[in-house]
Amino acid sequence: MSRSKSSARTKAPLKILFVASEMTPLIKTGGLGDVAGGLPMALAALGAEVRVLLPAYQDLLAQTPDWAPEPRFSPPPGFADCRLLTLPAENLGVPVWALESPGFSDRSGNPYLDAAGRDWPDNAQRFNRLCRVAAHLAGGRAGLPWTPDVVHANDWQTGLVPVWMLLERIDRPTLFTVHNLHYRGDFAPEVLADLGLPGWLNHPDALEFYGRIAFMKGGLVFADALSTVSPTYAREIQTPVLGEGLDGLLRHRQQVLHGVLNGIDTALWNPATDPHLPAHYDAHDLSGKAQIKRALQAEMGLAVRDDIPLLGCIARLVPQKGIDLILDILSELIHLPVQLVFLGSGIPELEDRLRHACASAPGSVAGRIGFDEGLAHRIEAGSDLFLMPSRFEPCGLNQLYSLRYGTPPLVHHSGGLADSIVDTHEASLADGTATGFVFSPPTPWALLDAVRRALHCYRQPEQWTKVVRTAMAQDFSWNHSARSYLRIYQGLQRPIAAA
Ligand code: ADP
Repeated sequence: MSRSKSSARTKAPLKILFVASEMTPLIKTGGLGDVAGGLPMALAALGAEVRVLLPAYQDLLAQTPDWAPEPRFSPPPGFADCRLLTLPAENLGVPVWALESPGFSDRSGNPYLDAAGRDWPDNAQRFNRLCRVAAHLAGGRAGLPWTPDVVHANDWQTGLVPVWMLLERIDRPTLFTVHNLHYRGDFAPEVLADLGLPGWLNHPDALEFYGRIAFMKGGLVFADALSTVSPTYAREIQTPVLGEGLDGLLRHRQQVLHGVLNGIDTALWNPATDPHLPAHYDAHDLSGKAQIKRALQAEMGLAVRDDIPLLGCIARLVPQKGIDLILDILSELIHLPVQLVFLGSGIPELEDRLRHACASAPGSVAGRIGFDEGLAHRIEAGSDLFLMPSRFEPCGLNQLYSLRYGTPPLVHHSGGLADSIVDTHEASLADGTATGFVFSPPTPWALLDAVRRALHCYRQPEQWTKVVRTAMAQDFSWNHSARSYLRIYQGLQRPIAAA
């Protein structure tokens, strides 16, 4: 049989435009940044040709002097004040484009919130620009010699990508990934006219959501395929409990909804080489971990004690993460006894509660309000147990980092936590699968009970070391997840027209 044109074409690398609002190490507020900083490179390692499109926030541009203007870029009509910058593949492993435009490049700080923690008032305009330009690039209309085979958009900030592609008649398949359904990006209905979008989108079958316009719905309704970041969360969001009012739509689209567990960057998160750590260790020799615990206790003003278990917690301080469940039982916890170390920032009420908790038990409870990548690594490594009592958790990355750092995670049975952690009990200890501690329901008392179980195990060094080593042996690298994404993209390929 002669080699047909189409079979030759299917062998060409798949070209993917990955659109996101953050990307580690350039700009990160949470797990989405880590995904955008890991998945594209893992796809490239599998032979795909990936380009990432991000907003050119001021802080992102400040990360490296290597950004260069893309001179051939011609913006969509009405977007004359936009420029495209390029970061070559040598920097992060794949080429990255950043969209320079008012609202992104003239502002520093959090990508989504002002200094007082309120949404930037022009978020709709800012992220609409990102989406409009993404569609323009996807359609090969920006004057550049590269057009993708597939467009992969992520979370509400990119929800209008499939909408603009539909309006502009750009026939490229799209995947929309939900990293957290709780954040819908909703705005007053007048936003449609302001953004130059047609009024028919203000309909329940389109972007309308309880009288508002939700960018997230753009992705959920108009993308060819949907995914979310764990198989369990993919099921949970189809239920009224965790569907955030969108469960009916998600049930309607369940045939094209995939659940793919996130991976982690095993080079950035490696206790044997991590530059943020004062000592190093691996599964064979854990002695460095004890040293890091002492250094962490000293750094955070805790009593330097080998004999007291240290419980770590890193999270955005929002109700989702269940930090209040820990604070509700603080006095019971410190009398067990344990020490607690927190890192996070978020809503003022939880920040205040955390400050108060630290002040009430100096030497036993310590916390830092803010974002600190290095400290996050030291907490993962130096803690004995990692607390993650999230009420819901689409995937969660910290529990995966904890596994790799031999710090068994203690998690609520939800979403990606349920998919990644095996509870420790007689049977899982016996068959060597135990990697952490799982509790349910998300109440302070169920959490306390799980901490007691974990400490019981901790006091039996042989059992504890077995759990630690099993945790460290888990492979959550991106390779496996990237293969799943490739299969989704390949399933979306339009049949190639006969030449
Ligand atoms: P989410 O995306 O909901 O915030 P994830 O667990 O998926 O939660 O990812 C959070 C990521 O952000 C992890 O890499 C975590 O270490 C990091 N992170 C969260 N808060 C902080 C902080 N205050 N300082 C440093 N890193 C943080």
